[in-house]
Amino acid sequence: MSKEINERYKRLENLGEGTYGVVSKALDKKLNRYVAIKKIKMDVTNEGISCSSLREISALSDLKHENIVNLLEIYNNGRSLYLVFEFCDSDLQKFIKNFEGDIPLTTIKNILQQLIKALSYCHSHRTYHRDIKPGNVFMNNDGTIKLGDFGLSRVFRSESKHFTPEVISLWYRAPEILLKMPSYTSAVDMWSVGTILGELILKRPLFCGKSEQEQITQIFDLLGVPNERNWPGVNKYYHFTHDPDAPVPIDFNSHFSRIGKEGTSLLKSLLMYNPDDRMSAEKALAHPFFNC
Ligand code: ADP
Ligand code: MG
Repeated sequence: MSKEINERYKRLENLGEGTYGVVSKALDKKLNRYVAIKKIKMDVTNEGISCSSLREISALSDLKHENIVNLLEIYNNGRSLYLVFEFCDSDLQKFIKNFEGDIPLTTIKNILQQLIKALSYCHSHRTYHRDIKPGNVFMNNDGTIKLGDFGLSRVFRSESKHFTPEVISLWYRAPEILLKMPSYTSAVDMWSVGTILGELILKRPLFCGKSEQEQITQIFDLLGVPNERNWPGVNKYYHFTHDPDAPVPIDFNSHFSRIGKEGTSLLKSLLMYNPDDRMSAEKALAHPFFNC
């Protein structure tokens, strides 16, 4: 670490190797609190990080919400970029894995509502995440949800060839991205929220394809094959061949009966094929699921 950072922070342990760099837990000696420092190595053959990316990262530090991981400081020494975040105790991936038995409905509602609140705030500030997955949803021991890795996927994917979309998990990816449609909207985040709701209910990923094709097939198996009626224009992007042995879409309501009528109605609205029909974060917050 550079001198300036060493003076202020005491590095404690490695938290993991992320998509963009190494993350460490550290003690902020000045404010006597824990932080997570993400060190992002710049490509030395390149010009380092561009001004536009730096501007974009500073813009991220302006996103302040109780359910978004706070970006506290940014250090740039030319070779590496250090992003200092508030420290969180765990993440949703670990929470789901370690939870014994079914996750209670009240807990599911609580987690989902906080995640959607974070997205509603971001979407209203014209930012979207593009990499919503349980591993990027941090959690504190008191049950507070903090959405992390905000906007980084966009900043760094344009920066370096190493960060192709392939490194990001397929499982939470919206069908319009899988079908390579030319533009997409904040609705991609809401699809991911739907897959996370499914995962909270089933305690396993809703879709877990090993390839793009397998991912698409799994989605079709659950929701049926999209058509021009429920997704106008879809035929331009996917050549559908009729497979007589294709499974009949399962009975959605009975599969997810544990979350009741309102829960399955919200899940369906989040997993709408047509991004224009998919429920927005703002609308989702007003869904009766959160009041029943
Ligand atoms: P990835 O890019 O693979 O999603 P991340 O860069 O988000 O991984 O994080 C790598 C590791 O560091 C993960 O285990 C994550 O839980 C941990 N981590 C990241 N940010 C924080 C934070 N603010 N507080 C605590 N742990 C964090
Ligand atoms: Mg991450």
